[in-house]
Amino acid sequence: MSRIVLATRNKGKIAELNRILGGLDVVGLDEFPGAPDVPETELTFEGNALLKARAIAAFTGLPAVADDSGLCVDALNGMPGVLSARWSGRFGAATGDRDTANLQLLLDQLSDVADEHRGAAFVCAAVLVTPDGTERCVEGRMHGTIIREPRGVNGFGYDPIFVPDGGTRTNAEMTPAEKDAISHRGKAFTLLTQEGFPLG
Ligand code: IMP
Repeated sequence: MSRIVLATRNKGKIAELNRILGGLDVVGLDEFPGAPDVPETELTFEGNALLKARAIAAFTGLPAVADDSGLCVDALNGMPGVLSARWSGRFGAATGDRDTANLQLLLDQLSDVADEHRGAAFVCAAVLVTPDGTERCVEGRMHGTIIREPRGVNGFGYDPIFVPDGGTRTNAEMTPAEKDAISHRGKAFTLLTQEGFPLG
């Protein structure tokens, strides 16, 4: 069975890609001691995903998939975007609960924004890089609204304050399978596989 390495140590992402890819053997960075932790220094999701996939394809000699994602809020001109994980900066890091600090800061920033202007989208860039230099990039999006108070306990990050278009529950009130079926990451990984994998 062909092996692909996913540039992450997140077991949830590895399991998700394994489900989507069926016949391929997807492994994570824990299988490769000494694999570099690549800093996300680019200003786009695609740029960051490419940095990670190129480095891991070069290190492992295997086809590498990487993703980068975040929340883009209309009223903030697309921010926090690539800064989603560190939006609250030192405050979040110091408290040890960065997700809550990020989410609370965003709610405070949007406190005067009217309901009709609270649109947002989760965005995910997924890329495949093979050792011979072939590169494929795709993007998945999930559009929705930022509500005013967190609801639900599932998921992570900004899930408790995001209600996808067409629904009434937040991402954090859905089961993992329900969220996977409509998520930016699920869509991006599926698109990548629909284009076929150049693994020869
Ligand atoms: P990464 O792509 O795993 O580095 O995620 C970047 C950041 O974007 C996370 O730390 C979250 O703050 C946010 N994020 C990305 N995807 C999701 C999601 O599905 N739910 C909630 N937050 C997300």
